[in-house]
Amino acid sequence: MRMRNLVASLGVAALALTAVACGKDEPAGGGGTGDSAASDTCGDLHKFTTASGVDVAGSATFTKIKSRGTPVVGVKADQPNLGYKDADGKRCGFDIEVARMVAANLGFDPDKIEYKEIPSANRETAIAGGEIDYYVGTYSITDKRKKLVSFAGPYFIAGQDLLVRKSDTSMDAGKTALKGKKVCSATGSTPIQRVKDENLTEASNISEFKTYSECVSQLLDKKVDAVTTDDAILKGYAATAPDELRVVGKPFSEEKYGIGLPLADKALRDKVNSILETSASDGTWKELYDATLGKSGSDSTPPPLEKY
Ligand code: GLU
Repeated sequence: MRMRNLVASLGVAALALTAVACGKDEPAGGGGTGDSAASDTCGDLHKFTTASGVDVAGSATFTKIKSRGTPVVGVKADQPNLGYKDADGKRCGFDIEVARMVAANLGFDPDKIEYKEIPSANRETAIAGGEIDYYVGTYSITDKRKKLVSFAGPYFIAGQDLLVRKSDTSMDAGKTALKGKKVCSATGSTPIQRVKDENLTEASNISEFKTYSECVSQLLDKKVDAVTTDDAILKGYAATAPDELRVVGKPFSEEKYGIGLPLADKALRDKVNSILETSASDGTWKELYDATLGKSGSDSTPPPLEKY
């Protein structure tokens, strides 16, 4: 279920209306008056300068993008402030801006990116199979995934946390309180793997869906007790329904977000790392962060890159 449907089903139409009224003409980084940390309408996107005369010697992916004329980028569409598609079909969020920044610096118009929505479980296949050129969507760098794909980054560090119904204080201790609780997460994600590996709750209490928004619906319908994934994602959902949901706020992992790339394309990984490096030093990273994830109130700085 899309967040716009979720918002509507919650009967918080006022929030959506406010967002529609002030969303379109907001400058990037502007929160609007009384704007919530996550709105249902995308505002203006960052204005990037498209680089010219770029070449990435030895990159098969770059050659492919060049002959096509535009990159095909894998993203999420239901994660407010990260990778989100609004009711008008416009995409926004920190991940979307990072995807656009990479395109612009590779010499491609960021407004002409062809997006493909790829759920957590299908990312490695989509990258390795050449279905997408690169992936930007809360994608944790892990040793297991590094055997199948390569990563530029990290460009952000999140932590696994819990989203609960606002009145439910029974899991305020964090992951140790999950025993006996019904927990929902996305198939193929690091958080669901951690719940299983660490036996945080009984196998029969775990439900998995393709997307986290499906888990949020389950939580609102009282079919599960908690949704678990990265705090950055959960904060976006909590902000769309602040009267019914909240994030526990006891993160128990380090999720380093990388840009997923084809395994063999070291040339492109090095190039994307240099794009990230420049964005950290020239203030672009901070501008993008403040206009998207930073709206939830927490400050952040670009993490050191893992060059390999
Ligand atoms: N960052 C975690 C992962 O890559 C959870 C978020 C997601 O599924 O995209 O698995």
